[in-house]
Amino acid sequence: MPPSNASPPVHSREINKVIVELNKLGERIFNMMEALRDNEERYQHFYRDTPALLLVIDDKGTVQDASEQMLEVTGWAREHLVGMPFHALISSQNGKHIHRISTALRLGNACNDLVMTLNCQHQEDRQVQVVIPAANGSQARGTMMLLTDITELTRTQQRLLEHELIDPLTQLPNRLSLNQHVQQLIARDAVFGLLLVNIDRFHSINHHLGPMDGDLLLKEVGARLKECAPDWIARTGGDEFVMTCDINDLRPLAHRIQIAFSHPLLKAGEPIHLSLSMAGLQAQADDESPSRLMRLLELTVVDIKHKGGNQYRTCVRDSALEDGEPLFLKERMIREALTMGWFRLYLQPIFRAASADLEAPELLGAEALIRLEHPDLGLVPPDEFIAAEEKTGQIVEIGNWVLEEAAVILCEWRRLGIEERYLSVNASVIQFRDQGILHQLESLLERYPIHPSQLVVEVTENLMLDSKDSLRYQLQAIRRLGVNLSLDDFGTGFSCLSYLHDLPFGILKVDRSFVMNVETSRRDRELARVIVAMGQSLGMQVVVEGVEERGQAEIFQAMGVHAFQGYLFGRPMPQQAFETRFHANADARVSLLKPIRSAPGTGNDPG
Ligand code: C2E
Ligand code: CA
Ligand code: CA
Repeated sequence: MPPSNASPPVHSREINKVIVELNKLGERIFNMMEALRDNEERYQHFYRDTPALLLVIDDKGTVQDASEQMLEVTGWAREHLVGMPFHALISSQNGKHIHRISTALRLGNACNDLVMTLNCQHQEDRQVQVVIPAANGSQARGTMMLLTDITELTRTQQRLLEHELIDPLTQLPNRLSLNQHVQQLIARDAVFGLLLVNIDRFHSINHHLGPMDGDLLLKEVGARLKECAPDWIARTGGDEFVMTCDINDLRPLAHRIQIAFSHPLLKAGEPIHLSLSMAGLQAQADDESPSRLMRLLELTVVDIKHKGGNQYRTCVRDSALEDGEPLFLKERMIREALTMGWFRLYLQPIFRAASADLEAPELLGAEALIRLEHPDLGLVPPDEFIAAEEKTGQIVEIGNWVLEEAAVILCEWRRLGIEERYLSVNASVIQFRDQGILHQLESLLERYPIHPSQLVVEVTENLMLDSKDSLRYQLQAIRRLGVNLSLDDFGTGFSCLSYLHDLPFGILKVDRSFVMNVETSRRDRELARVIVAMGQSLGMQVVVEGVEERGQAEIFQAMGVHAFQGYLFGRPMPQQAFETRFHANADARVSLLKPIRSAPGTGNDPG
C-alpha cells in the first residue's frame, strides 16, 4: 500500500490548534515588544531628541546617556561620551562647582543655579546654567542634569553694561564712565588734571541748526577735542565734555583747544564758530569724590558764563562756594514755587503701537511731567530741579503733590466717562523711603473715587540699587492696591536681569537713547531688539519713549511693542491743551489699557 501523503484528520486538527495558539502567543509577544519599544522610543525621544542640553549621570558622576543636542554642542560621539566622568565636559576653572555637583549626585540632593563653562570640541565654549533635580531615591537609574545655554544672555548683559558707559551720539565715554574713571584715578592716589569744556550759547546754536545738525555739531566738537590729545575724554551732558590729562598739561591742553576752535566747524552744513568756557582743576590725592570735583568745575564754568564765556580759568577751592549755596538757592526757589503754586503737570500722550494708521493712532494714556512755571525764568524743565529736590528731600512733598494732581485728573476723566485711559506718574527713589509712597497711594485711593488700574507709577532702574527686600515688599503692596508699575528709562541703569523677573512691573519703558539711532545703527537696532524681546518674554508691555521719526516707529512696530510716546506723536502739553486735543474727537477716547500682568500672588488684574 502506497504511503498516504494526507495526515490523519485528527492529527492535523491538533497541529493546527497548536499553530494558532503559537501564532497568538507570538502576536502577544510581538505586541509586548512593540509596546516596550514604544516606551523606549518615547523615553529616548524624551531625552535624546529634546532641544535641551541633557545628561543622564550615575551617582558616581559617570555619563550614562546624553541628548542629541548635547552631543551636537559638545562635539562628542555618544559612544565616547558614555562612560566619561561628567566633569571632563566642564572647564577646569569651575573646580568648586564640580565638587558641589559631585556631592549632590552622591547624596541625591538638588543643585540649582550653578553657572559653568561647557567645553566644546568644535565651537567656542558655552556658558551654561546647571540644574539637577533631587533624586527621589531612584539614583540607581541615573540622574538627569539639565544645562541651559546662557551664553547669549550673558553677552547681552555685557553689551548693555558697555552701552551704559558710552554716549551714543559721540561714541565717547559718558558721565557714568567719567565717574568710574576718576574714581579709579583717586583710588590710585594719582595727581591729575581735569578739564571741563562747555560750549557757549549752545542752546541758541542748536535751536538755529535744528536737532539733526545740532547733533552733527556735537559729534564734530567731540572729535576735535579728542584731536587736542587729552589723556581721556568723555561727553558728560548736552554740550559738556570733560577730559583728564597730566597735571602739568592742563593749561597747554586748554590752549590747544582754543587754537583748534579758532577754525569754524563744518559738519553742520554751514561754518559755525564756537566759543568755549573751560574750567581746569588739579585733582589732589586727598580729593574724596568725583562728584565734588565735578561740582567745582561746574561752578567755575557757570561763573565764567556769567562773565561772558569764551575763557579758560582754573578752579579756586572755596568750600563756601562749593557746598550749600547753589543748592540753597534752588531749595528756596522750590519752596517758593510750592507756596506760590508755580508747579504744573504737563501731559504727554501715549499711543497704541499696533494702530493701523500711525497718522491717527489710538490713545492709550498719558505721562504726567512736572514743570515749574517761574514768573521770571519762564518754564523750568524738571531736569533743572528734580535732582536738587532729591538732595534736599523736597521731592517727597513734590511727589505727593504730583500724585494728588494725578488723582484729580483721573477723577475728571471719570466724570467725562473716560475710564480706560491711564495716567503715568514719575516717582523718585526717595519717595520709597519709609514706605512713603505706599502710604500716600493708600490714602489717595481712600480719598478719591478712582480706578487704581488707571494709575501707573514709573520708577527708574536706579531704584534697584536700594534695599531689595523693602523695595520688593512695597512694589508688591502697590500692585496689590491695583496700581500698575512701570520700569522707566530701561537700559540706562543697573538692573540685574535675574532680579527683574520677579518684580511686579507690568510695563517696561525703553529709553530714548535706544531709539535715537535705531534707524542708522545696526548695533543699536540689535540692542533695541534684545531689550524689547526681553521685556516681552517677561510678560511686560513695552513702551518706546522718545520716538521722533516715523522710521523709528515703524522699526519698533515691527518688533511688536505695545505703545509709543514721543515728539512724533505729541509733546508734553498743559492739561487743558491735552483735553482739547483728545476730547474733540470722540474716537480718541476709545482707548483701552489691556490688563497688565498681575503681581505674583495677587491675582487682581486691573481691567
Ligand atoms: P522721563 O520720565 O524719561 O520723561 C520723558 C522725558 O522725555 C520728558 O522730559 C519728555 O518731555 C521727554 N521726551 C518725550 N518724548 C520725547 C522725544 O520724542 N524727544 C525728546 N528729545 N524728548 C522727549 P521732561 O519732561 O523734561 O522730563 C525729564 C525727566 O524729569 C523725566 O524723564 C523724569 O525722570 C523727571 N520727571 C518729570 N516729572 C517728574 C515728576 O513729577 N516726578 C519725578 N520724580 N520726576 C519727574
Ligand atoms: Ca517717566
Ligand atoms: Ca523715561
